[in-house]
Amino acid sequence: MRALTYHGAHDVRVDTVPDPEIVNPRDAILEITSTAICGSDLHLYDGVIPGLMGGDILGHEFMGRVVETGPGSTLKKGQRVVVPFTISCGQCFHCLKQQFSACDNSNPAEKQDLTEPLFGHALSGLFGFSHLAGGYPGGQAEYVRVPYSDVGPIVIPEGMEDDEVLFLSDILPTGWMAAENAEIEPGDTVAVWGAGPVGLFAVQSARIMGAERVIAIDHHPRRLELARQMGAEVIDYSRTHVLEALREMTGGIGPDAVIDAVGMESHGFAPDSILDSAKQTVGLGADAPHALRMAIMACRKGGRVSMPGVYGGFADKFPLGALMQKGLQLRTGQTHVQKYTHDLLRRIQEGQIDTTFLISHRLSLEDAPTGYRNFKDKQDEWTKVVLKPGM
Ligand code: NAD
Ligand code: ZN
Repeated sequence: MRALTYHGAHDVRVDTVPDPEIVNPRDAILEITSTAICGSDLHLYDGVIPGLMGGDILGHEFMGRVVETGPGSTLKKGQRVVVPFTISCGQCFHCLKQQFSACDNSNPAEKQDLTEPLFGHALSGLFGFSHLAGGYPGGQAEYVRVPYSDVGPIVIPEGMEDDEVLFLSDILPTGWMAAENAEIEPGDTVAVWGAGPVGLFAVQSARIMGAERVIAIDHHPRRLELARQMGAEVIDYSRTHVLEALREMTGGIGPDAVIDAVGMESHGFAPDSILDSAKQTVGLGADAPHALRMAIMACRKGGRVSMPGVYGGFADKFPLGALMQKGLQLRTGQTHVQKYTHDLLRRIQEGQIDTTFLISHRLSLEDAPTGYRNFKDKQDEWTKVVLKPGM
């Protein structure tokens, strides 16, 4: 089959590789119909996450048709399914607590280095990610093997388009969990750093959960315009002093909750001047994550900090003092996708949530390297890339 493979930083290629096969009884094989490129893929693309090997197949946001099942799978050939990016057994201590992204069996702790600082031996298996997350082949391919296919995949009713449901695999539940972690109360003001796919779904989710005001912060005009269409007020951080603006907009108090939907600034999208101004404002070094630091400094006393943005390793100059002195709650994590898919599918069917507004480009699998390059370098215009292997 054809698949998008990793060969080093900024070097991804579409290669011919062996077809996947059923390995365990609970496996299923899918023929991929749609698969998206995620902000998390850019961390891999940038080469900042170790544990990838040359030839690894990327991709963790995908859906397709079931073409083969093991004897322990509950899926049937021909069914259309969306697959969570987190691989979960459904039976371990953490899965039974619905903490699916902490599954003990899909990436067993005994196989991991307990002193490894990047992921802290914490993760479940993830499709198309580092070998620190189990090294499972991803779904930016013609076919994929889905382990524990009786737990994760959600069957999609005929009549719904791929584009309506594809993002149940990751970014929609991620935006939703980000808003849930912000513990929104009716009437709250919520500020969201990053108007990328995750930030935009966090905006939409926060509104549904009753936030009276949502303020989105980014510097891409088109992305900010999408946030506005989702009901947010917006701040362009390249033109405005974010902390002062937020203070003014909230009567001097600060937002009740803040969401960091940026994560590691490995994409080089924060201009140095902005980092410098943040340094002056906050009085800290440049090596602390910039959006997160601003979010903590902006949040009102006793407020909540939600961090869906992905980080690895250590971050120094983290404003721990402000976090403690202001009495903030910090919640974060890889999304427990399986916990949210059924509820979110229903909300899409009822027309409460729209996902298709996000897609700017649909490409063939062969054009995936172009998709990666532009999703990274032309972020304003390329808001979300969906690959269609059958195209
Ligand atoms: P993206 O790269 O498309 O979007 C990030 C946005 O942040 C961009 O629009 C960028 O302009 C903006 N930005 C950068 N620096 C900023 C700053 N200082 N202030 C305000 N905005 C800033 O990525 P995405 O797909 O939306 O993903 C966002 C983050 O969420 C990534 O770190 C990704 O890895 C993470 N993620 C986490 C999970 C999870 O399970 N927790 C799942 C999916 C993605
Ligand atoms: Zn993703």
